[in-house]
Amino acid sequence: MADLAGRTALVTGASRGIGRSIAQRLAAEGALVAVHYGTNDDAARKTVAAIHRSGGRAFPLRAELGVDGDVDTLFAALETELQDRPLDILVNNAAVIDYGASIHAATPKSYERVFAINVRAPLFITQRALRLMPDGGRIINISSGVTWFATPEIVYAMTKGALNVFGRSLAHTVGTRGITVNTVSPGITETDMNDWLRSAEATRHVATMTALARPGRPADIGDVVAFLASDDARWITGQTIEVNGGLLLG
Ligand code: NDP
Repeated sequence: MADLAGRTALVTGASRGIGRSIAQRLAAEGALVAVHYGTNDDAARKTVAAIHRSGGRAFPLRAELGVDGDVDTLFAALETELQDRPLDILVNNAAVIDYGASIHAATPKSYERVFAINVRAPLFITQRALRLMPDGGRIINISSGVTWFATPEIVYAMTKGALNVFGRSLAHTVGTRGITVNTVSPGITETDMNDWLRSAEATRHVATMTALARPGRPADIGDVVAFLASDDARWITGQTIEVNGGLLLG
């Protein structure tokens, strides 16, 4: 267990998938969780309702990332909800993948959008979050295994490489405040981002790629994030942790 009673957390992209699971697990450990999302009000409401049903505390926070003023919109809403409380935990999870944006099909416009959501937003969200974060805070960035295995979605992979670099340098910068910064790198996980995984054939194929013989589930990631957010992980910083069931081990 990771006792987070009395802590506050912002999880970006928490309406669905991995972010939802992270939000649910942090709330289950006692944190008050800001369930950030872009446009899907219904999904965000469901996440918050599930947390409330389990006795946790959470509120929805709508702010589309990658558009002008995105970070201002997010923090205006967050600060209103927090009412002068600090922000103890930041999880930069929201991201998009542009399927088909290979080296042949990528355009400057698609490149700008994916980098704005996956890299620019985490950078400036973190900049603002650091003003609200007490010493001993936690920052966790969600990257991807595509930083070490090849994929046709080359722009998406580049954004995740940037996030890995961001985490290492940031950990060095904020370490004297006792703030830890770590990167969690999921493998192939069953979420809307991977709707191609819904066929039994695709699931079987992905199972052959992992030592533990199945695709990842969102809770596999949420549980590790909760550990990194806890006091038990106080001596881990600047690391990228692969959470993938032994993907492509051999
Ligand atoms: P999903 O597509 O299932 O969910 C994406 C979440 O991000 C939603 O909450 C969505 O909000 C939010 N979001 C997307 N775009 C924006 C935007 N422009 N502004 C604000 N919020 C936005 O993604 P996953 O759960 O699969 O992925 C979560 C993280 O894990 C990502 O960083 C992804 O790169 C990473 N990852 C995922 C893997 C996988 O196999 N699924 C593998 C490796 C890494 P809304 O509901 O409003 O659209």
